[in-house]
Amino acid sequence: MVEPILQAEGLTVRFGGVVALDDVSFAVAPGSIHAVIGPNGAGKSTCFNAMTGLYPLAAGTVRMSGERLDRVPRHRIVRRGVARTFQNLVLPDALTVADVLRLGRHHRTRAGLLATALALPAARRERRTDDDVVRSVAEILGLEGHLDDPVGVLPYGLRKKTEIARALCAEPEVLLLDEPVAGMNDAESRALGERIRECREQFGLTVLLVEHDMELVMSLSDHVTVLQSGRVIADDRPERIQQDPVVIAAYLGA
Ligand code: ADP
Ligand code: MG
Repeated sequence: MVEPILQAEGLTVRFGGVVALDDVSFAVAPGSIHAVIGPNGAGKSTCFNAMTGLYPLAAGTVRMSGERLDRVPRHRIVRRGVARTFQNLVLPDALTVADVLRLGRHHRTRAGLLATALALPAARRERRTDDDVVRSVAEILGLEGHLDDPVGVLPYGLRKKTEIARALCAEPEVLLLDEPVAGMNDAESRALGERIRECREQFGLTVLLVEHDMELVMSLSDHVTVLQSGRVIADDRPERIQQDPVVIAAYLGA
């Protein structure tokens, strides 16, 4: 493989006596869509949480372009080029879509509060960049007609898209999506899959994806890592994963 953009090495996470992740290693190629799949409780969300500094590691390392990410405080992770969504999204109902997307820009703000309040040139320049990014992200996800809508009035599918858009507004190099199409119907899922692919092309993104929808995983991903009971049981191209007897047994047994 070319030099991985993101690499997990020997990740181990314990909750009391439960080993939620046990020596998990995998490498994500730059520009790829890489899926992490596995039965419920396999450790997929824990893996994302461990990689983004939300859960402490009992052992292992995470590297981004070769540099240690596991020692970076969680609020700084996004500055290193890693943004994520959460499995159970919580967006404040009263905020508009545009507000939520601007929140995604927050960590990039350099002009101080005073400069912003006085609308000094640096702050005005930043504001313009923010607006440009918000607009182009909204367009690619089909949210441009909803920028002034409060999140609370949106149907579920658009709320999920708003959450993805917020993460994209950080202009990450790597985007981690935890079950982005959960709760959507087939047509919505396929459409969102297409948008994710377009984001990869347009923004040169790498996508790490936890997803239950097997059809989507197989059609969208370049590479698949399979977890079961906190361990990697397979790591391969999707067409090989589909035929792997160990993977098939894991799903039938679940
Ligand atoms: P998945 O996302 O693959 O469905 P999770 O990563 O959510 O699985 O969970 C993996 C295991 O870790 C499960 O046994 C779950 O109960 C446990 N677990 C996850 N998060 C916590 C937590 N915050 N505290 C205690 N146990 C947890
Ligand atoms: Mg999960």
